[in-house]
Amino acid sequence: MNQQQPNSTNPTQPKAHAVALFSGGLDSALAILLLLRQNIEVTALTFMTHFGCDLQDRSSCGSNPYPTAEKYGFRVKLMHLGEKFVDIVKNPKYGRGKHMNVCTDCRILMLSEAREFMEMINADFVVTGEVIGQRPMSQVKDKLNLTEKEAGLRGRLLRPLSAKLLKPTEPELAGLVDREQLESISGRSRKRQLELAEQFGLEDFPSPASGCLLTDEGYSNRLRDLLAHTESVSFNDLNLLRVGRHFRLNPSAKVVIGRNEQDNNLIDAYREPHHHRLEALDIGSPVGLLIGSANKDTLSKAAMVLARYTSAKHQPTVRVTVFEPNSDKQHDIEAPPARDEDLQHVIIK
Ligand code: SF4
Repeated sequence: MNQQQPNSTNPTQPKAHAVALFSGGLDSALAILLLLRQNIEVTALTFMTHFGCDLQDRSSCGSNPYPTAEKYGFRVKLMHLGEKFVDIVKNPKYGRGKHMNVCTDCRILMLSEAREFMEMINADFVVTGEVIGQRPMSQVKDKLNLTEKEAGLRGRLLRPLSAKLLKPTEPELAGLVDREQLESISGRSRKRQLELAEQFGLEDFPSPASGCLLTDEGYSNRLRDLLAHTESVSFNDLNLLRVGRHFRLNPSAKVVIGRNEQDNNLIDAYREPHHHRLEALDIGSPVGLLIGSANKDTLSKAAMVLARYTSAKHQPTVRVTVFEPNSDKQHDIEAPPARDEDLQHVIIK
């Protein structure tokens, strides 16, 4: 089959300039390729958040956008949503999905950022790879209309994969985009997308992402606990939610225990100066971090939890070293390893 090379068939001046939301996945790639085929310049935006949407993260809602961009010759800009995304996770206007996911607010935020960027670079419209009816929460027609309106993009948001099932947009009406060359895909089947991928020679695209960490039950439980007990949440607090086992010792203290060497290294990387660090030296031991207010009782409970995960967990006591915050001081606690049945009451899972 002849592969269509979208950007190589028409050397003339681009007809228009679009800003595309690009996760690196199949649908958003196809949306871009359908426009490049019409000689429309595309600048792609790939969003990152503190909740698993980054390029290296295997749990990510996105994936590396660069191979496709390089192959087909369009620009990619990475944009981290940072504090803005944390704010909508704390207070979503449109509620949550099954877990802590805030998909409607998230789409509105990403589209609003894309609109601002479009205005800044004088582009003509915004493009997404959304398909009607593909995802129950975010891609039914009403939701598509709502997100478009809330993002201030009415008439200027083109979804090339479902375009023929939607009202014509301004770029179509203005003749910048030929509607006839767009698609009428709906539902969960990916048959047509796979046909298009073959036509375009698009290979090695990732399987559809299930979403960010906010769709994960365990992560959501840890996040809910953090938000309920912490007034001011730091990025390190959020990063630590992805690491180790978490135990709520009391309303103002929790301990995080590494499960493997990678966790231990990350716990050290995310440790803040006011955190107590715990480790049983000279035996097989995870790293632990006590977060929150530390007194004798919480330190001794934290040491008992850590002792349970050392190689000496069957000994009557384990010597746990506590590295104190904001100083080089350390002291030891002889801690009996916590019993599994007791841990069941405090583990956040
Ligand atoms: S799963 Fe929902 S909240 Fe998470 S990135 Fe996707 S749309 Fe946004």
